[in-house]
Amino acid sequence: MTSKDLQISELEKELAEARLKIEHLEKKCDKAETAEKKLFHEIYQYKELIHSSTALITLLLGPDFIIDFANDSIKKVWGKGDQVTGRPLLEVLPELKGAEIEQYLNFVYNTGEIYEAFEEPVEHVIEGKKVLYYFDFVYQPQYDLNGELIGIGVFAQDVTERAKMNKTIKKNEKEFRELIDLVPQKIGVAEGKGRTVFFNKAWMDYTGQEKLNLSKFDWVELIHPDQKEKVDDIIHNKLNDAKYFETELRFQNKKGDYNWHLCQVVPVIDDKGSVTSWISSSTEIQKMKEEEEKNEAFLRLVSHELKTPVTSIKGYIQLIQGILKRENEESSISPFLKRVEDQVERLILLISEMLDLARIEQNEMELSKTEFDLNKLVEEVVEDICYTNQEAMIQISHIDDLKVCADRQRIEQVIVNFLTNAIKYSPDDKHIGISIEKMDDNFAVVNVKDLGLGISKKDLQNIFRRFYRVEGKNQDTYSGFGIGLYLSNEIIERHRGKIFVKSKIGKGSEFTFTLPLNQQ
Ligand code: ADP
Repeated sequence: MTSKDLQISELEKELAEARLKIEHLEKKCDKAETAEKKLFHEIYQYKELIHSSTALITLLLGPDFIIDFANDSIKKVWGKGDQVTGRPLLEVLPELKGAEIEQYLNFVYNTGEIYEAFEEPVEHVIEGKKVLYYFDFVYQPQYDLNGELIGIGVFAQDVTERAKMNKTIKKNEKEFRELIDLVPQKIGVAEGKGRTVFFNKAWMDYTGQEKLNLSKFDWVELIHPDQKEKVDDIIHNKLNDAKYFETELRFQNKKGDYNWHLCQVVPVIDDKGSVTSWISSSTEIQKMKEEEEKNEAFLRLVSHELKTPVTSIKGYIQLIQGILKRENEESSISPFLKRVEDQVERLILLISEMLDLARIEQNEMELSKTEFDLNKLVEEVVEDICYTNQEAMIQISHIDDLKVCADRQRIEQVIVNFLTNAIKYSPDDKHIGISIEKMDDNFAVVNVKDLGLGISKKDLQNIFRRFYRVEGKNQDTYSGFGIGLYLSNEIIERHRGKIFVKSKIGKGSEFTFTLPLNQQ
């Protein structure tokens, strides 16, 4: 091999090596380019993210708070256009000079501590007009690689709508509390399980308790010891029912007296149907109760005094009627005597109802239970009623033999009340049905159905109350005192039975009572 050949082969070798190096470098360049592109892409993405964020973000550098970066949302709120970077914050937003925001920024820059605020009001000037914003924000100190504090990162959220809404809610609540303190009714709020969380001023005036003491106060302790049973019923039954209820309670006042109150209690129910709280309104009815007691005492007295003379008047009328009949003197006075007899009957009914009312009030209505055939009782009552109400057509339907153990006279009183009402309040169609059935071998069920006037939904809730009579031009023409159903309800409750009523205006009514067969 000549020296020339050697030289050529050396050169070729060098060339090959150079090619390899170039190839290697080219690959490196490619890699660097891809890495750069990736980095550029990532930076772009982060910037985009920050720029398009609804959060308000800015980076302020140095003691003059030079705006190094501000995203689109914050620039929009500032309302000073796009050319803000590189300028001191207070030059861009002169309206913040001397405002609390400036103090917060200085605090973070001087102490290196984070500052957080919620629903902070800040006034910006946009196109010459003041605009009030509310922000939740964090001022976060920013450090360089050497750990030197270089500025503040601001991360804020425009919460103007929410803050305005909260302000309205707070204002409404304040007004509402003022109103609640103004009303004479005693208003209270208790948790779902009954622990009191709020009492209004009327409660405090009544009990003489301070607000703080009262919230620790147990309402049960205010109630008269004689009403322990009622309190137990409220705690164990009413508070579990999650329904509106009314009750009469005696609360102790600051002098130590117990005054009667009508308490109306309504549950507040959440989306899941659970009771979150109870709102109660208690109205003092002490004077009314005293009046009632006086009236009752008077009625008791009058009823007792009237009973004997009226019964003897009835006796004398029957005597005269008997004499006239015997002597065949069906004279012109007979119809008048009949009328007098009817009126005396009404008086006797009223007196006995008044006496029953008094007995219930005094808790003196005793039941004298015996075993008897309910079917037979119904048949007898129907026969008597048809005798005095010739126009009534009463159909009985019953099963064979239904023995019950109850107070016969009192059950008769309930059946008479249902049937006479059915006749009285059915002016056009006196077809009446009465059925006696057995339910699950546990109850006797008596049902009276008429095709009369019917009762509205509103009145249905009240007809079992004392002296309640349905108002309306027709009703005035039907005699009555609004006591019969109240007594019937008491009688059936004392037998541990129940009364039900279904009715539709113009279509008729259905009154039912149940009687437990085992009365032990
Ligand atoms: P009243 O002596 O007034 O009849 P009640 O206590 O027996 O007293 O009844 C209360 C009210 O209920 C009555 O005034 C009447 O308006 C209504 N009522 C009772 N029964 C019926 C019925 N069968 N049909 C329509 N209304 C009735």
